[in-house]
Amino acid sequence: MVQLPQQLLDSLTGVAGFSREAFVQVHESGEQVTSVRMNPGKWSMVNGEWSIGNGLPTIFQQSLNLPSSTKIPWSSYGYYLPERPAFIFDPLIHAGAYYVQEASSMFLEQALMQTTAIDQPLRVLDLCAAPGGKSTLLQSLISPDSLLVSNEVIKSRAAILEENSVKWGGANVIVTNADPAAFERLPNFFDVIVIDAPCSGSGLFRREQEAIGEWSEQNVTLCYQRQQRILAAALPALKAGGVLIYSTCSYSKEEDEDIADWLMDTFTVDSLPLQTETSWGIVETRSDKHQAYGYRFFPDKVKGEGFFIGCFRKQEGGGHSTRPPKKSLLQKASRNESAIVQPWLQAGLQLQLWKQKEELLAFPQQLEKDLLTIVDNVYVRRAGITVGKIAGNDLLPDHALALSTIISASIVAVTLKKEEAIQYLRREEVSVSTPHKGWTLVQYEHYNIGWMKVLANRINNYYPQGWRILKRIPDHSSENS
Ligand code: SAM
Repeated sequence: MVQLPQQLLDSLTGVAGFSREAFVQVHESGEQVTSVRMNPGKWSMVNGEWSIGNGLPTIFQQSLNLPSSTKIPWSSYGYYLPERPAFIFDPLIHAGAYYVQEASSMFLEQALMQTTAIDQPLRVLDLCAAPGGKSTLLQSLISPDSLLVSNEVIKSRAAILEENSVKWGGANVIVTNADPAAFERLPNFFDVIVIDAPCSGSGLFRREQEAIGEWSEQNVTLCYQRQQRILAAALPALKAGGVLIYSTCSYSKEEDEDIADWLMDTFTVDSLPLQTETSWGIVETRSDKHQAYGYRFFPDKVKGEGFFIGCFRKQEGGGHSTRPPKKSLLQKASRNESAIVQPWLQAGLQLQLWKQKEELLAFPQQLEKDLLTIVDNVYVRRAGITVGKIAGNDLLPDHALALSTIISASIVAVTLKKEEAIQYLRREEVSVSTPHKGWTLVQYEHYNIGWMKVLANRINNYYPQGWRILKRIPDHSSENS
């Protein structure tokens, strides 16, 4: 029997859209909703343009063992699955072909599209980004000449964010590992700031029942104070006219509508309404003081978990004054280095190659100034696509290049069957027969999963040690974790 905290239930009485009985019942029902979001960047590389509305592509129906699937109505690339497969044993997830994301969170797409001209080049900051659900969605929505800075303050979580970002494959992304205060060094820099704030987490109670015991009113208060600190640090980095998208997975009014009121008391921002379809079941709320618009997701009304989102436009702000530094940690690659790398990249992409110590990375040419500015002001874990290192006249290709959307389609590849691909992803020995010697792309269902090097008498597996699959496939076929 699920015991939801009484204080939480009592505090929600009177909140628009909250119906105690239905809310308790949906938590007791044991119902689980699983959803995934496809990567249109990879899809278009493999199969041509993504066509929205055609249902889940066959390859995913097979891979995820789906008799049918349903599109998530507020998302271009999101689908509900009828059950939760053992994702870890699907090579396509390691290829960055899709991401497992809770359906309500995908509403960020609507928040961005309805408030921002996404066909323009934008500078977007995702301030609380790990493990990368919102960031990979943002990567799929913004144009290739836009910049996405994905930041996470906790180092270990920043590593997971980096891994998911690499798998998604875009070149216009910088992963940073900084406290929100670091962004005060970039006044009026961003067009959009997404703050998916750390919160008391009640919205996930249906999915993670063990979190129920950790909930307390004191923690809601602590979260409210921390949310204010994060917002206060981030707001100066937003341009005048720029959009702040604030979200939590908490039902508590303090962390949702009250934060909206605090924001409007403290900064000159306007609250922005969003359009929703009645059939989606999303509840529009208004804050007590400023009547700020908020959008609540209750699992008894929406096919998804608990979520809150609100959008604001900043009215005032000065110009952006940060100058790119004269001397940077990054140098442009030499002509010779660029010539060695060129055959590995798709032709026609406007990319600049940079060198940091021994490593070469590719980043969109038109974002050169932004790159240097970010590198100079915030701790960067990874910028653009790490292409590899030069040894003599050869490139030692990096794993990130294999998973990127900038890699040339003419590189020699071998295709593995599912069991072989899993062996490869475990970093075990793989035997394939190929006449080609040297660096070879490893593919599963046309998606790149990494590199191998074919030598005269053996094959070296270059799958990154830290990312390999450790879990064993259980003998019985009822695995559902
Ligand atoms: N946006 C992520 C996604 O969609 O995958 C989920 C973000 S999670 C709700 C909140 C994140 O904020 C966590 O990764 C957490 O480590 C980070 N965080 C915790 N304390 C923070 C702080 N004081 N400032 C900024 N971020 C913080």
